[in-house]
Amino acid sequence: MPASGAGGVLHIDLDALAANWRALRDAAGGAETAAVVKANAYGTGIEKAVPALGRAGCRTFFVAHLSEAVRARAVAYDATIYVLNGLLPGTAPSYAEHDLRPVLGSFEEIEEWAGFCRSQNHRLKAAIHVDTGMNRLGLTVPQGLMLKDTAALQDFETALLMSHFVSAEESDNPLNRQQAEAFEAVRSSLPHVPASLSNSSGIFLRDKPHYDLVRPGYALYGGNPTPDLDNPMRPVIGLEGRIVQLRWVEAEHTVGYNGRWLALSKRRIATISVGYADGYPRSSSARGKSGEELLAGVALVAGQRCPFAGNVSMDLLAVDVTDVPEAQVKRGDPVTLIGGELTLDEVGRRAGTIGYEILTNLGSRYARTYSGDAG
Ligand SMILES: *Cc1c(COP(=O)(O)O)cnc(C)c1O
Repeated sequence: MPASGAGGVLHIDLDALAANWRALRDAAGGAETAAVVKANAYGTGIEKAVPALGRAGCRTFFVAHLSEAVRARAVAYDATIYVLNGLLPGTAPSYAEHDLRPVLGSFEEIEEWAGFCRSQNHRLKAAIHVDTGMNRLGLTVPQGLMLKDTAALQDFETALLMSHFVSAEESDNPLNRQQAEAFEAVRSSLPHVPASLSNSSGIFLRDKPHYDLVRPGYALYGGNPTPDLDNPMRPVIGLEGRIVQLRWVEAEHTVGYNGRWLALSKRRIATISVGYADGYPRSSSARGKSGEELLAGVALVAGQRCPFAGNVSMDLLAVDVTDVPEAQVKRGDPVTLIGGELTLDEVGRRAGTIGYEILTNLGSRYARTYSGDAG
């Protein structure tokens, strides 16, 4: 599909991805730096991202589902691959078949994995997840403290003990230290097991809770792991739409479905070939009046910030380009929806969500171009 035939063009910079992994490795001191590649490598494409990260030196990958792990395995023959969502009943043989490691999050899962390993006469590897505050997945801390006396742990190799931060991006949140202390209690009861606590933001916490392995995701793809400070990461994705039509809208007329945006004066509107069916969030819709400061999407048109006008529709969105000199905007021109000064984090904020959701919704409808890391 030539880029000109698609509504939007998503550009993914694999050199930047690799550079971000190396920067995180340097920030992680001596800890091993893994890569979280769940949700199709946060929307960037698991088949491209995993080999690029592998060439940068990454040896350990985390995904959420078994099916994602199988995809990762197909492009990373000798990497270590963990499945964060754990062992669903009856799936242990698939783990063994593809040389994958479950992240076990309950005594039931531990028993099932141990039973499978006994039946195979093989001490296969797995991680154990201890929940230190998320109340989502993992053994409770009291259960974690019982692990050292749990007979089933003889039957497999616990290759990693891990927990996950609730709000590591809030560097002053006291929960970070409380979680690290709870994790430390469990870890010290299993002193020979490698440990892992930090996601992207955890790597940058003052206490440096790096342990033996860090598990960044978002920062690899250019998201800011330190939202109170400048983003230390390089942008990885860029998104462009095209202007399919330009029109003047008279004062007192509305733009888009349900007439939720009102032109107070004559406005020039550019209609862009990207909509919510592409994965661009409808919550970026601009509902209000022209000239108002709205928490809504913006686009870069001829290098200038232009606000959205009206509801984002399925295949189109409208941008108020009145402030751009008329000669600088014409039908067919590209406009930037993510990229340059328009960061992933800002696009997320303007959609009332987080950059993570913007990334992982990046649709299959875009023409995708990859640069860097030819392999
Ligand atoms: C998604 C996830 C990560 C990566 O988190 P980021 O904030 O994207 O760096 C790490 N660990 C676990 C358990 C996760 O679910």
